[in-house]
Amino acid sequence: MADCSHLDMVEVTELPASVEGCEDCLRDGDVWLHLRICLTCGHVGCCDSSPNQHASRHARGIRHPLMRSLEPGEEWSFCAVDDEVMLLPQVTGYTRIPPSPMLL
Ligand SMILES: [Zn+2]
Ligand SMILES: [Zn+2]
Ligand SMILES: [Zn+2]
Repeated sequence: MADCSHLDMVEVTELPASVEGCEDCLRDGDVWLHLRICLTCGHVGCCDSSPNQHASRHARGIRHPLMRSLEPGEEWSFCAVDDEVMLLPQVTGYTRIPPSPMLL
């Protein structure tokens, strides 16, 4: 079972039908590899293999530790405080995402 103590911060239980990409990279004209969504506010950021690591920066900066992968076929969530990967069955839906600009 998950040792994460932040599960009461999950506000996003229905994933958006589609997203445009990492919100911060789109604003800055930058590129991302994989996408993560904040489960507290719905902010879409990029993974730690992306140049700007916006998802982790969001988690630390605004203290929303829980994120979920938006990659096709990936259903795991991650707590940036507890450094723990887990499955959260209360989060449902499937998000269409554009291909990574780094892989084009
Ligand atoms: Zn946690
Ligand atoms: Zn980004
Ligand atoms: Zn957030």
